[in-house]
Amino acid sequence: MKTSDESRKPRSGPALDRTQAADRALLFKRVAVRVKVIYTHMHPAPVSIKRLGKESVEVLWTDGHRSVYHNRYLRDHCPCATCRERPVRSLPILSGGDVYPLQMAVVGRYAISIEWSDHHTTGIYSYETLRQICPCESCQNGVGKPNAA
Ligand SMILES: [Zn+2]
Ligand SMILES: [Zn+2]
Repeated sequence: MKTSDESRKPRSGPALDRTQAADRALLFKRVAVRVKVIYTHMHPAPVSIKRLGKESVEVLWTDGHRSVYHNRYLRDHCPCATCRERPVRSLPILSGGDVYPLQMAVVGRYAISIEWSDHHTTGIYSYETLRQICPCESCQNGVGKPNAA
């Protein structure tokens, strides 16, 4: 069987409706303006952001650091107003560890946005925040995080 058509074509990305994409860009831009104010250039930026399977997100930084965030951890640290203003408990969306990023996009030069599998799209993670919540041992040094294996 010769059905290698799909693997031959270069990926052109998901067929996103233009209006929808523009809407999102607008939203991202608006939120990003606020982030820009507190962003300083002293912090490293990601050179690569990708999913590791369905369980975590990996970020490689310009200074060579590697961060691996469990999806649920990332989601728990969602900096958007909705998630911050209400106790996590009252959010109807999340109880299991099932949620994972559908799409991730760079917002300006200072943040990424994550669209989650439960369609939560308002989370804008500034690079600074991302780095601060890096769960690796050297970043959390002194916190004494139990590493559940
Ligand atoms: Zn949120
Ligand atoms: Zn780290």
